[in-house]
Amino acid sequence: MSVKMAVEGVPSNGIQERSTILEVAGHRLTAVSVGGWETCIQFPSYRLAIDIGRCPPTAINMETVAITHAHMDHIGGIGMHVATRTMRKMKPPTYLVPKAILSDFRSLIQAFEKLDGSNWNYEIQEMIPHETSHSLGKGRILKSFPTYHTVPSQGYLLYSQRKKLCDEYAELSSEEISRLRKSGVKVSQSVLTPEVAVPGDSTIQVLEEEEDVRNASLLVIEVTFLDDSSSPEDARRFGHIHIEDVIEKAHLFQNKAVVFTHFSARYSAQEIDDLLKAKLPPELHSKSLALTFNHKVRER
Ligand SMILES: [Zn+2]
Ligand SMILES: [Zn+2]
Repeated sequence: MSVKMAVEGVPSNGIQERSTILEVAGHRLTAVSVGGWETCIQFPSYRLAIDIGRCPPTAINMETVAITHAHMDHIGGIGMHVATRTMRKMKPPTYLVPKAILSDFRSLIQAFEKLDGSNWNYEIQEMIPHETSHSLGKGRILKSFPTYHTVPSQGYLLYSQRKKLCDEYAELSSEEISRLRKSGVKVSQSVLTPEVAVPGDSTIQVLEEEEDVRNASLLVIEVTFLDDSSSPEDARRFGHIHIEDVIEKAHLFQNKAVVFTHFSARYSAQEIDDLLKAKLPPELHSKSLALTFNHKVRER
């Protein structure tokens, strides 16, 4: 697995913010994710954030924010996002949300707008799992899939889209294909390849159910609990993943690289690294990375 790390400054209007950009399996991401505290996973190449967390300053640059569910550590910063983009005269953001929260989400932003005495421009669109596609440009498509949490929730998959010759024309010469195309025959079809999967908060069931999540080149997935301070049963009850679930289902992680996120704030960065190394099967551990930037550095 190739992992490159760079600290990039994002200067804007006198505010200098630095964030760590990871390059994992060819995908650039900037992420903060601590269970119960803040989760915002940004893909700067596509100006896409999955969840907004407390709205880290670099997330202001993300035009599209896809919301997995409405727990505060995932959506609390939404007012700052839309207000700051409006103040800086940036392109109106698009918020992609699960159907079940659309109405409350709209009311929340409208309430902020009224309290702020402002007029904000933004779009809210529902994403229906396995149905709605949202184009991010550059041949990238975002879709959603069901997840298993304590409130309505869904995850997101980023696909690359390319045209492929239909199988029945594979044997034809390029002249014949060109003649067919000119006569109006559809000779190619669109093929979607799963590139990045971000389930958000969910039990491990999401891996069992979703083939494209198992096969995405990069999987960014939560593991909230790493030891017996919470049992796997408790983790399931809270709609989260326990490391014992990961060990049991390690064969489902077909991805090229895995970024583990959303560890409980009770663990220090060192404890997370040590527990993952000690417990994960070596093959999975060698292609994985733990997101620990925001965890305390000292041991308990
Ligand atoms: Zn969470
Ligand atoms: Zn949650």
